[in-house]
Amino acid sequence: MARPKINIAVDGHSSTGKSTLARQLAAKLSYTYIDTGAMYRAVTLYALRENLIPGSSPDEALPKELNNIQLRFEFNSEKQISELLLNGENVEAEIRTQAVAEQVSTIAAISAVRKHLVAQQQEMAKDGGVVMDGRDIGTVVLPQAELKIFMTASHEVRTKRRFNELREKGQEVSLEEVSKNLAHRDDLDSNRADSPLRQAEGAYLLNNSNLDPEKQLEIAYHWALEKITA
Ligand code: C5P
Repeated sequence: MARPKINIAVDGHSSTGKSTLARQLAAKLSYTYIDTGAMYRAVTLYALRENLIPGSSPDEALPKELNNIQLRFEFNSEKQISELLLNGENVEAEIRTQAVAEQVSTIAAISAVRKHLVAQQQEMAKDGGVVMDGRDIGTVVLPQAELKIFMTASHEVRTKRRFNELREKGQEVSLEEVSKNLAHRDDLDSNRADSPLRQAEGAYLLNNSNLDPEKQLEIAYHWALEKITA
């Protein structure tokens, strides 16, 4: 008999490797991976392009534009990853730049933006079989998810990981800039009024400061199998 498909929520601080774990776990279980951070990043990219960043335009301007922002994930079979399309345009590279990272937590704090994206995320997970990563998945988007994982790691480890990632992509950033951006995003994400970053009730804590990706996947896969076969 086929195993029932559960939903898995992966939350945690910035640059803890949530997307790596969630993607690998989804592949191992033949589930669908959904990167909700990419959705907030794409809305931020749109806001940057259209001059709708709060402060440079009235705060209500972006909420009015939300229905003009179509987001869709498309599986790239060559790269074996799903990529985000913003109004039909593949923005996978552009949403990962430092310019977007600097504004995304401000945009993600706008309640109308959250409401709009959370509804889409819940629709994507309605039939189960989803591994979704973000900041509010276990608390707000999928509070009924059978497995919830909360990831963290030391600030130093996370800064180094993010710095290496950006350098590999050819982006000129200093270690200090990356460190400041991470601390800033953690602060905004944890202290915002709407859906602050929290370890959900019942979530398993995964501190990967000293774990390699293989070991971390093994632990999470074991937790998933326990829930699937429960
Ligand atoms: O996961 P990633 O670092 O790409 O997310 C970018 C930003 O989007 C986060 O720093 C956070 O401000 C926001 N975010 C959020 N809720 C989510 C996913 C991301 O607020 N579910």
